[in-house]
Amino acid sequence: MPPLILGTGTVGRTLAAAFSALGHEVVLGTRDPGATAGRTSPEPMGGTPFREWQAEHGGIGLETFAEAAGRSALVVNATNGAASLAALAAAGEARLATKILVDVSNPLDFSQGMPPVLNPVNTDSLAERIQRAFPDARVVKTLNTMNAGIMVDPGRLADGDHSVFVSGDDPAAKETVTGLLRALGHRDIIDLGDITTARGAEMVLPLWLRLFGALGTPDFNFKIVRGG
Ligand code: NAP
Repeated sequence: MPPLILGTGTVGRTLAAAFSALGHEVVLGTRDPGATAGRTSPEPMGGTPFREWQAEHGGIGLETFAEAAGRSALVVNATNGAASLAALAAAGEARLATKILVDVSNPLDFSQGMPPVLNPVNTDSLAERIQRAFPDARVVKTLNTMNAGIMVDPGRLADGDHSVFVSGDDPAAKETVTGLLRALGHRDIIDLGDITTARGAEMVLPLWLRLFGALGTPDFNFKIVRGG
């Protein structure tokens, strides 16, 4: 089942390279492939221009969100959280219907400055908004609680058995996604429950951001330690 990744930022690129290395055919979705491929300046967070990155990852194609979403049974939403609903709308509700939609985005709102706040929060989540907007897609929230490098290489941390969460209404979709997480090297995969439990996974972000500030590195993750 080839994964398609909607998003050309750090997360989209990192997941695409990892799935490609696992033998999946991967295509990245973007608003305007010509414009994305033509970018020559470094990305805002310091990533290499897309064309340079693509040259180093020859087998990974670039298509519009709509073209990319037409191809696979599994779609990964790795777009900016403030734009995810628009990006998925561009992908097309009909093209997303019945598909597993892995949502790794975070609803970070920078409009009030730094640090960002969450929007939505508490009584709603971005994952639920996506599920409501695309009711026939099978949304599974996961991987949003860690840095992109750790998503695809959990063993890079000294204590490899740290935790990843999954939330979603469709048990079969969660099982498929759990298999992908295992293939990436994740071992402690915690099923939080239905899609409303994504609120908890998204509300980890304020803590994640402060840990990033305190530790001075994004190379850390949460580890859930159970009682004996
Ligand atoms: P990002 O800069 O947050 O998002 C880049 C993607 O969003 C691009 O594909 C871009 O489209 C799309 N986008 C931006 N504005 C848009 C708009 N108005 N309409 C449609 N699409 C739009 O990239 P990222 O850092 O890789 O993060 C991706 C998601 O993962 C975010 O939700 C983030 O919070 C979450 N996340 C990130 C990390 C991390 O390590 N960075 C870790 C966990 C979760 P184009 O391709 O057309 O430019």
